[in-house]
Amino acid sequence: MNHQHLALLQQGPPSHKPADTWARLCCEQALLALEQGCYAVGALLVNEAQELLCSARNQVFAEGHYNSAGHAEMQLLDRLEAEYPAQDRSALTLYVSLQPCLMCYGRILLAGITQVRYLARDKPGGFTGKHLPAAWAELATRTSICQADVDDYWIRLAEQAIEQLQDRPGMRKRVVKAWRGEPDT
Ligand SMILES: [Zn+2]
Repeated sequence: MNHQHLALLQQGPPSHKPADTWARLCCEQALLALEQGCYAVGALLVNEAQELLCSARNQVFAEGHYNSAGHAEMQLLDRLEAEYPAQDRSALTLYVSLQPCLMCYGRILLAGITQVRYLARDKPGGFTGKHLPAAWAELATRTSICQADVDDYWIRLAEQAIEQLQDRPGMRKRVVKAWRGEPDT
């Protein structure tokens, strides 16, 4: 991890709220995604015993080509389903550094996750769960998705990663190039 990013993690306050540890780890994954040239979003799953089950980060450009399903939550749930098929999903909490988008919101419901806590709000891109078709609305009644109760430092760091550290216009250009079938340079 580069020095600037490491310093941002190290400057964080000592954990005083139960989820601070998870918030820090989400931010660490987000910064690692950024260093891979991907969107600065990290996610993890924590079990009932408050143990880390698995973690993941955005990988949309990590494989040398654009992967539209490479969002952190999608990567995380792929890992859960492949590696922990016997795990009771209702016992898990999914932490993510950014409010889930429409795609990930749907995937979270389909994967049977019932607790989601995010750090930064995503006003332009976060999905609020309003106006769902009936079957999805019924699924959504099982799931609680809200901002995590963590030290404000981690929420601000998650925001900073997306809004300042990441080159948003540059990322958008890369996505549009991929849509056109042009090489990623
Ligand atoms: Zn997403």
